[in-house]
Amino acid sequence: MCVWRRLDLRGDAATVTKLSPVEIRRRLPRAALDVDVAVETVQPICDDIRDRGDAAVLEYTERFDQVRPAGLRVPAEALRRALDELDPAVRDALVEAIRRTRVVHRAQLREAVTVEVAPGTTVTEKWVPVDRVGLYVPGGRVAYPSSVVMNVVPAQEAGVGSLAVASPPQRDLSGPGGTPGPRDGLPHPVVLAACQLLEVDEVYSVGGAQAVAMFAYGTESCPPVDLVTGPGNVYVAAAKRLLRGIVGIDAEAGPTEVAILADHTADPAYVAADLIAQAEHDPLAACLLVSSSADLADAVEVELGKQVPATRHRERVEEALNGQGAIVLVDDVDAGLRVVDAWAAEHLEIQTENAAAVAARVRHAGAVFVGPYAPVPLGDYLAGSNHVLPTGATARHSSGLAVGAFQRQVHVVECTKEALAAVAPRIAALGAAEDLLAHVDAVEVRSQ
Ligand code: NAD
Repeated sequence: MCVWRRLDLRGDAATVTKLSPVEIRRRLPRAALDVDVAVETVQPICDDIRDRGDAAVLEYTERFDQVRPAGLRVPAEALRRALDELDPAVRDALVEAIRRTRVVHRAQLREAVTVEVAPGTTVTEKWVPVDRVGLYVPGGRVAYPSSVVMNVVPAQEAGVGSLAVASPPQRDLSGPGGTPGPRDGLPHPVVLAACQLLEVDEVYSVGGAQAVAMFAYGTESCPPVDLVTGPGNVYVAAAKRLLRGIVGIDAEAGPTEVAILADHTADPAYVAADLIAQAEHDPLAACLLVSSSADLADAVEVELGKQVPATRHRERVEEALNGQGAIVLVDDVDAGLRVVDAWAAEHLEIQTENAAAVAARVRHAGAVFVGPYAPVPLGDYLAGSNHVLPTGATARHSSGLAVGAFQRQVHVVECTKEALAAVAPRIAALGAAEDLLAHVDAVEVRSQ
């Protein structure tokens, strides 16, 4: 049964206009996800993998995934077989997802830009792909072939030369008498098929913090990477936080979240279905309905009462909705916007009158889904937008995965002798102000 908490932020007493974004955020639920505590858990794992390589990765895999892969690297034959055996409908869906995601991400590519700042002095900004990336595809509770697409396509479009994917090994006990079958110790077959479709042949049966440490430090099986991207659970997030610097990382994309800003025009059946869809990911998923209509809120509760008992992952959904679900009542859509901006959701749905105009005013969200026919699952799979998005209110300062995450921007400075001489007095003034006179000398020596 769903026990929704209701937060009433209407009226004078608790009007959201009197609360700062931090105060609003504190009143709203989110999973008590202590990445810092998890950092303490993963530190010895990462240190051990740095020191002992493959042997340590295999030991932790056996401990946390209850399976020991024959080797860390997935054989080419297993990748080919996974694609050969893929359900044609799933193959068709993946092909179209790849096409749409590619179109969107290709459009993000930026040309080098050259600016002449003064006669004879130019600064060119160019974008250079990272050499080698490690892409994490979660697969503990649920396998995410869609995350293969969301990681690999932007990396390929960015021009990254070397791509490796890691995803947790699964148990396959389909052999005679419940013995290990041919897929035992390999990542989920649809994850492998998606890698093969995308022509990624370097795939590892490794999950969690082990995968991030393997990528960061390198092991006998896996050369180190320059950047690790991809979503994952608290251990993945903790390892990324711990190893940031040794390796580049993207934003922290932890347990998933949705906020739905809805008014009296929203369809309660749609709103309830979208809350359940998010909750199905993870018992730690956070689902918020922010509504200016108490009638809609009541109707959504009635719908949840109908839909939750019929959903496939009922237990997980109830745990998430009871744990981090809430209906927040606000005076109007403006107040609702303040609330959702403060919460900075990974996914934000706008189901209001004039939804596009309301969406245009949103400042903090990983991705925004506008109107009744753009539910989050469209973005999870086939909108073409990226589904690796910042969670835990990090959408205030971070973005979803994009081509730019796989590139570095480099400034290239060119200057003629005359142009340097023209600006030399100003360099001398600033060099003297900072007491860095060798800076001044390095310019003056060129004017002799
Ligand atoms: P996962 O692949 O992230 O984690 C599984 C791994 O966790 C296992 O392989 C194991 O090595 C490790 N692990 C499990 N218990 C451990 C323990 N006690 N100590 C150390 N390590 C341990 O898969 P998951 O758990 O299903 O989580 C996936 C997460 O990714 C979900 O929270 C989901 O919401 C999120 N997700 C987020 C996005 C996004 O863009 N924000 C997209 C897809 C998925």
